[in-house]
Amino acid sequence: MIRLPAPEGLSGIERYALELLIDLARVPPVDDPSADVVRLVVAERDSDAPDLRTCVARDWYLERGDGTVSVPRPVLHRIGRVTTAAAEQGATARDRYDRVPSQANEVVQAGLAADPVVSRAATLLRAAVIASAGRRPVALSVPWPDGRRWAAAFTHDLDIVAYWPLFTLLRIAELARKGELRRVGRVALAALAAIGRNPVGRAVRHLLDDEQAHGILSTWFVLCGTPTFASMRAGDLTYRPEARAARAILGALTERGAELGLHGSFETADREELFAVQRGRLERQIGRPVQGVRQHFLRMRGAATHRGMTAAGFRYDSTCGFFDRNGFRLGIADVVPLWDPATERHMGLDEAPFCWMDRTLSKYAGVEDPAAWVADGDALAEACRQVEGVWVGVWHPNLSPPLGYPGAPDALRALLRGITARRPFLAPLRTIVEWRAARRSLRIRRVAPDGRVDAHARVPGPRPLSLEDPSQRVLATIRG
Ligand SMILES: [Zn+2]
Repeated sequence: MIRLPAPEGLSGIERYALELLIDLARVPPVDDPSADVVRLVVAERDSDAPDLRTCVARDWYLERGDGTVSVPRPVLHRIGRVTTAAAEQGATARDRYDRVPSQANEVVQAGLAADPVVSRAATLLRAAVIASAGRRPVALSVPWPDGRRWAAAFTHDLDIVAYWPLFTLLRIAELARKGELRRVGRVALAALAAIGRNPVGRAVRHLLDDEQAHGILSTWFVLCGTPTFASMRAGDLTYRPEARAARAILGALTERGAELGLHGSFETADREELFAVQRGRLERQIGRPVQGVRQHFLRMRGAATHRGMTAAGFRYDSTCGFFDRNGFRLGIADVVPLWDPATERHMGLDEAPFCWMDRTLSKYAGVEDPAAWVADGDALAEACRQVEGVWVGVWHPNLSPPLGYPGAPDALRALLRGITARRPFLAPLRTIVEWRAARRSLRIRRVAPDGRVDAHARVPGPRPLSLEDPSQRVLATIRG
């Protein structure tokens, strides 16, 4: 736990960065002004915000005192800029899908995209709090339910349902261009054998079986508009959620307990009012509320898209990852509340950033070996585990041999094994977001002279929250 400086002395983005840091660090704030606990001090500096690489090299300039930890004000600014992808907001370059190139992102520019640098800063802050406490009591929030120390969420974007042979042909053309002729042969054989046997539906069922075997309930993002010839050609909407094949898939997902979210079509990025239309259509189709959203092709127009999602009633977004590389676009391996730079307020929407996607390496780096894709995913999972964060991965269910991806299902099975062996808390994104919102709302009301704490959580969570001491002994359990 920690006592924060008076909020009046801080700007909006500084407050945001500070709240983010202590949340990621698992040090809940103390309300009791008389409690003798570690205090956080914001140190004044004349200089501008040091660049990201320097912040990392200097351990974010955190300084330990007797019962105090200080962080320079410009460092809070740097954290605020990285976690809101401020550099991207100012970029004018766009790719052919109207997306900001990842080179505009600060962590990419610093060559630090594969490391959750802000999550690591929080880990350093926690270590500093513990080291500077002396005889003062230290209570930390327990990171995840069920005694787990990190979390993993497997997510899927349902891009293809109808007209699968068309996508097989497109993929064969892509492989041929790359000179991957052996793979072309394997795909052609698998596709011929799959004719009349519903390979899309079968791939979904096999994926669900594999996940079930590891105790995984996944999250699926579903397109929910009406396709046209133009939308098909552009790779945008390719199926209607009401069509028979799509209904069968949605039914199978609901039956297995998967979470369904909206995969926002291209148009939602230009006309935010369409989020509510598509969300409503999906809710009518599946008969339950839809909390999450991820943009198809990750198409966004900065904060405007997030504002549209909030207005449509979504609880969280999971679009903030890179399309052309794996890594941490916000420098964070965790769920964070989104900040609106225009109004200097919280968006009212959480972000569950993904750090790994199946196709980034094959589509943008020319790597066609699925074992290499999942090796990347596994390495990033290790980074997430180290910071007690969340690994969110994207796997497209159409990555099956008849649709052009021989070896992909086997590679995914290896990834499921590798990640679950590290014992993460496994849950659909909705549960992970709810847990983090409850954990984030933890406050210490009072600290008794003997060090016992009176804690409460403003937001109820899916499981009871707990506090622990620095050696992970549980001190108290809090009900919402
Ligand atoms: Zn998609």
